[in-house]
Amino acid sequence: MTVDYIIIGQGICGTWLGYYLLKENKSFIVYDNNYLQSASNAAGGLINPVTGRRVVTTWMAEELLPFVWKEYNALGDALNMQCINQKNILVFPSATDLQQAFIERIKQQNSFIQPPSVARETLHTIFNFPFDVFEISPCYVIKMQALLQSFRAHLKEKNALKEEVFNEDELIVNKDCIEYKGIKAGKIIYAGGINAAQSSYWKNLPFVQNKGQALVVYIEGLDTSYIYKFGHLTLIPLKDNKWWVGSSNELEFATAAPTDDFKTRTIASLKSILKKDFTVADHLSALRPATVERRPFAGFHPQYKSVGILNGMGSKGCSLAPWFAKQFVQNMLLDEPLDPLADVSRFAKVLAR
Ligand SMILES: Cc1cc2nc3c(=O)[nH]c(=O)nc-3n(C[C@H](O)[C@H](O)[C@H](O)COP(=O)(O)OP(=O)(O)OC[C@H]3O[C@@H](n4cnc5c(N)ncnc54)[C@H](O)[C@@H]3O)c2cc1C
Repeated sequence: MTVDYIIIGQGICGTWLGYYLLKENKSFIVYDNNYLQSASNAAGGLINPVTGRRVVTTWMAEELLPFVWKEYNALGDALNMQCINQKNILVFPSATDLQQAFIERIKQQNSFIQPPSVARETLHTIFNFPFDVFEISPCYVIKMQALLQSFRAHLKEKNALKEEVFNEDELIVNKDCIEYKGIKAGKIIYAGGINAAQSSYWKNLPFVQNKGQALVVYIEGLDTSYIYKFGHLTLIPLKDNKWWVGSSNELEFATAAPTDDFKTRTIASLKSILKKDFTVADHLSALRPATVERRPFAGFHPQYKSVGILNGMGSKGCSLAPWFAKQFVQNMLLDEPLDPLADVSRFAKVLAR
């Protein structure tokens, strides 16, 4: 069997890569072992243009927001589903310096930050909060699990998915093609999230393993038109009264598994914030494929021109994956340049070791 590409991984990176390659009528096989504790399956799916204690605009937010809205809607149309919704964030600062930062940004006319569109008195009947409330707009939520499952089914229909572990020991890399278990392909692309840090081709890249945990809880009667943010705790509506509540950012941990400590702390925080009853339905945990410089890895290995990567999306996979998947495909097919801040060739020296 001969195809144009082999893709390792069908998280959000592999999904977007597959979508753009299909649009260009390219043939490929995706290897994905359907690991439910992947970062994409654990993610809240939030696209938020504002970040940090200084309340700054995220990298490329002005370009990314209209882009993701258009592209996720197009992908949803292709899959016959709605996979993106606009839901603004109501932010409840937990300290005076954070409140002050929001006030300053409003004074500076930051277009993403406004006073809340819900009366504070209404919010006081639902939440305990010591300071003011602000609204971040526009923000989007991606239905990650539903989207991944739907694209997986699409790949299956096209006989383009192998639900098994890709074993690098069996990969043969030639100068202008690769072979794997009887499949010949022009190129192979590593979109396997943090697992790529174990690959002999990519192990020298400055990956950072960042563990994130979240709870899924049932809360009755909470207005699902908004996302609610209290410090590190963000409440994102799922469906059927379920809410995603997360997440942690852990750099030191023993395993990727969920911990009782996170669960206990999150339940306690939620009890202090929420004036409603809730019950825990699920506990998610995964490793984010983060990078030292907080910028993605896209492109081909400087020494092995048939071995590529789309990875390192950190905590922003929902917005960065479609952008860089499209750019990577245009780079491969039309020779258009990759953003130098994402182009993996910036690590040519360490990759040569
Ligand atoms: C708790 C948490 C909350 C988050 N919230 C958000 C959020 O709200 N918004 C946002 O933008 N980002 C969020 N993120 C970050 C986001 O999840 C990641 O940036 C993104 O999902 C990374 O996608 P990926 O496709 O690179 O990797 P992954 O999602 O890890 O996907 C990799 C896939 O490859 C498969 N795979 C790997 N190796 C192999 C192999 N050898 N053989 C077969 N299959 C293989 C895995 O099974 C998996 O399906 C969150 C992350 C976590 C953990």
